[in-house]
Amino acid sequence: MLHKDEAIVLSKRSYGESDRIVHLYTLHSGKVSAIAKGGNKSQRRFNNTLEPFNHIRVEYFEKQNKGMVRIENADIIETGDGIEKSLKKVSTASLFVEFVERLTKEKERHEEIFYTLKTILREIKEKEFTYRHILHFQLKTLSALGFMPNFLSCVYCGCSVPDQEKTKFSSERGGVLCGECSKHLPNRTYSPDTIKGLIEITRIDASVGGGEAFDNPHQVLERKGDNRFKAEAMEIMEGFITYHLDVRFKSYPILKKLIE
Ligand SMILES: [Zn+2]
Repeated sequence: MLHKDEAIVLSKRSYGESDRIVHLYTLHSGKVSAIAKGGNKSQRRFNNTLEPFNHIRVEYFEKQNKGMVRIENADIIETGDGIEKSLKKVSTASLFVEFVERLTKEKERHEEIFYTLKTILREIKEKEFTYRHILHFQLKTLSALGFMPNFLSCVYCGCSVPDQEKTKFSSERGGVLCGECSKHLPNRTYSPDTIKGLIEITRIDASVGGGEAFDNPHQVLERKGDNRFKAEAMEIMEGFITYHLDVRFKSYPILKKLIE
């Protein structure tokens, strides 16, 4: 069966002498592994189309009950040009591509993930991300996949925790704990400002959409140089992702050294 779709190229590798295997995130079928015959032969056939971070139009052929599809045609909608300008941009883009590649299942349609990744790659071309930008998009992607940490109420008993007492986070339970529950469940202690900062970032989309009042969402994301917040938020996110999704990202250690 022939499919026509749009896709973002996640990764590529050579296969045999002249073929190439690419992973695509398609708009209508989610993640797809594909073989491009002749795709590696001085790249003439697909003329640099099948490069990571490119947004492409693609026609592929799928055989019934066969995992890998075969690319018939591909052309560019928008290239990832500009991302290669700095190591920071490349590492940031690689992190999100890896995020989508490893957290989604093959052929599971998820349009929100497609559009979020598209927005992320376009924004990376335009600017260098701060840690808050990265966090914002990490949380957005997790939320789209249904894995959102709970920063608002006690994740165990459900009671509401006053902002100043939001200091205990449980990776296992995936959220903050109230004083009482924190006595019985494993957790780590953080500054209430860190949890407040995370909540602020999760609210950005609501405020951009005209929901909650918010001073200036973009100012929140441009803020840098706050080392305690960065260290603690990274620990919370890493603990959560490793525990719940059992994934460690290859591009993350490099990126961690570069971002502010
Ligand atoms: Zn509780």
